Amino acid sequence: MTAAIGPRALLAAIGAGAVAVLALWWQSTLSITGLGGWLTGAGEILGLLAGYGVIILVLLMARIAPIERGVGADRLARWHATGGRYVISLVSAHVLTIVWGYAANAHTNPVTETGSLLTTYPDVLMATVAWGLLLGVALVSARAVRKKLRYETWYYLHLYTYLAIALAFSHQFADGASFVSDVAARFWWAALYAVIGALVLWYRVVVPARDFVRHGFRVAGVRHEAPRTVSIYIKGRRLRELEAAPGQFFRWRFLTRGQWWQSHPYSLSAVPNDELMRITVQDVGDHSAGLSRLKPGTRVIAEGPYGAFIPVRSGRPALLLAGGVGITPLRAMFAAVSGTVTLIYRASTWQDVVFQAELDAIAEARGATVHYVVGTRSDFGGDPLSATALRQLAPGLHRMDVYLCGPPGMTGSAVAALTEAGVPRRRIHYESFEF
Ligand SMILES: Cc1cc2nc3c(=O)[nH]c(=O)nc-3n(C[C@H](O)[C@H](O)[C@H](O)COP(=O)(O)OP(=O)(O)OC[C@H]3O[C@@H](n4cnc5c(N)ncnc54)[C@H](O)[C@@H]3O)c2cc1C
Repeated sequence: MTAAIGPRALLAAIGAGAVAVLALWWQSTLSITGLGGWLTGAGEILGLLAGYGVIILVLLMARIAPIERGVGADRLARWHATGGRYVISLVSAHVLTIVWGYAANAHTNPVTETGSLLTTYPDVLMATVAWGLLLGVALVSARAVRKKLRYETWYYLHLYTYLAIALAFSHQFADGASFVSDVAARFWWAALYAVIGALVLWYRVVVPARDFVRHGFRVAGVRHEAPRTVSIYIKGRRLRELEAAPGQFFRWRFLTRGQWWQSHPYSLSAVPNDELMRITVQDVGDHSAGLSRLKPGTRVIAEGPYGAFIPVRSGRPALLLAGGVGITPLRAMFAAVSGTVTLIYRASTWQDVVFQAELDAIAEARGATVHYVVGTRSDFGGDPLSATALRQLAPGLHRMDVYLCGPPGMTGSAVAALTEAGVPRRRIHYESFEF
């Protein structure tokens, strides 16, 4: 079973690293005098924290299996986005305080000092280009701009962060007071970057390539489930070795002419066996729409399994609450979760409902309950998933573990309704289909 590193352990390790960074600054700073000294000291701390923060952002996105399983890809993406805002603020504040502090020390003005820093200090020009790149990445990641860009455009622009990190690296050793005369500090700092770089290469390149060769993933067939939804069956060798749990997802790269260059996350919609996996995809854009045309035999790179949306073994009854295509991971869980289980499946129309025969068969085989809540809000004269409605559909709700997957609007209102119905927040597990 793959080990898991949970959110607390990861945050504690990141926090301990930040304390070590502050200690590094402390032991390399003999005294601080005057405005220039204070500003320069602040600039050095900010720079060190920015240099640490940026490599931690990379770590969060390295797709390290134990972290993905313990923390969850959606939470890691949220931390990465929030952390990114802090890091760009740290870098910008570092630039401003260093320029101002050096200007104060040299009794000159910040504009003249900027020219001097760019032309006479080693590698500062490259670091300035890196700052510009990071500002550009921050701009395209701002919600208002990102909404207007295609996902792939945003994603590939985002990769300039790696270039920015490479460009900024050398100025830290060439100009940073904590590093210039401390070989041990340089060694440990370089080791941190090298280890995280190696983890990125290992988990994002080597492991998927190894699994591709080892398991030989290929499309086995495509089945139409609903007007805009298809299931793709993927065959391979010794798939149990992947240790995929119900509720998890893979990033799928189908090696066809139009699709090989992009990978997309889709959850397993059935518990895999040793030879076959299944995903079920709703057509919402160019990639998902193209999957209905996949030919049997198409090679596939499957990267994963990822995600912390996995049933916990608590012994409590479980409620699975699905909205629309959010049924996919819950369909896999419905067959696998142990103990008493109730499934509530919310859809706007009966045409959108998938797996009805399968769900009914699973319910009958294991003595579970399934409720289809189908129709618009106006058909129901209100929210069919209100606290009162949920209590009626799942008696004893407040004692249950709840697994929730659906569109963002439904997820938000369902979490509020479940909390109102007395389910403690820590027992509501949900996965977002948006990073
Ligand atoms: C953890 C997870 C599990 C998912 N499981 C399923 C599933 O089982 N079935 C299903 O139908 N859908 C699932 N999705 C959603 C699915 O990934 C997107 O609908 C799909 O990537 C859309 O791509 P597109 O090119 O068809 O549409 P586009 O129009 O390009 O994208 C529509 C939206 O999908 C998101 N998206 C697009 N590309 C990516 C990408 N490469 N990585 C992450 N998000 C992207 C963006 O928010 C974008 O705004 C899942 C998403 C996540 C994050």
